[in-house]
Amino acid sequence: MIEILNESEVERARATGALVGTILQTLRDRVTVGTNLLDVDSWTKTMIDEAGAVSCYVDYAPSFGRGPFGHYVCTAVNDAVLHGLPHDRRLVDGDLLTLDLAVVLDGVAADSAVSFVVGDSRPPESVRLIETTERALEAGIAAAGPGARIGDLSHAIGSVLSEAGYPINVEFGGHGIGSTMHQDPHVSNTGRPGRGYRLRPGLLLALEPWVMTDTDQLVTDADGWTLRSVTGCRTAHSEHTIAITDDGAEVLTRRPTR
Ligand code: MG
Ligand code: MG
Repeated sequence: MIEILNESEVERARATGALVGTILQTLRDRVTVGTNLLDVDSWTKTMIDEAGAVSCYVDYAPSFGRGPFGHYVCTAVNDAVLHGLPHDRRLVDGDLLTLDLAVVLDGVAADSAVSFVVGDSRPPESVRLIETTERALEAGIAAAGPGARIGDLSHAIGSVLSEAGYPINVEFGGHGIGSTMHQDPHVSNTGRPGRGYRLRPGLLLALEPWVMTDTDQLVTDADGWTLRSVTGCRTAHSEHTIAITDDGAEVLTRRPTR
């Protein structure tokens, strides 16, 4: 199903997006060497509850997971990239952490993810992975607007990833979003321009380029959720929820700069 939101629903989506951006930035500022992933999860729960929002994850039980997820934020470390289940692990300097968060506030969902390196070290490959997914995300956003097609966004995202030399997995990508987290249309992280659904004002999309250094193959952890690179290589993931407007696209989940 594809939802087209009216103006008051888009206004509510702005509030949800701002909340998701603020929570992710707060987590990012608070995470340090020694932080336990379970603490990140509990900080997230507190912020969601204080805002009167509802987690999209805690009861989430799709066919591919060992459902329900039971936690409030995805925490994926190093070779883990998607659906990272929070567990008892303390972060160390140089860990590449991805936080992925989706909540519903006032009936509208927003979904965003950020990758960053924990501590003071800046491993060059990790920095390059993160910067590449961020550039791919911005390229996808730049290609979005009324009249553009999904394939235009997929092509823009995929071009950045492949020009950087990274393989592209097509099992998981972006998606429509609205009253619930995952809706049509699917937004592959590679594709051909001019193909697919034509974007309209009021459509919300979550764009989410993610990459693994040297493989496009995933393996699922024993926890039934966490997806890792099959080679153990580093990974990164960047996601924003955007709204198609009359003259372009508005990013709803920008994180506040401090
Ligand atoms: Mg997400
Ligand atoms: Mg998403």
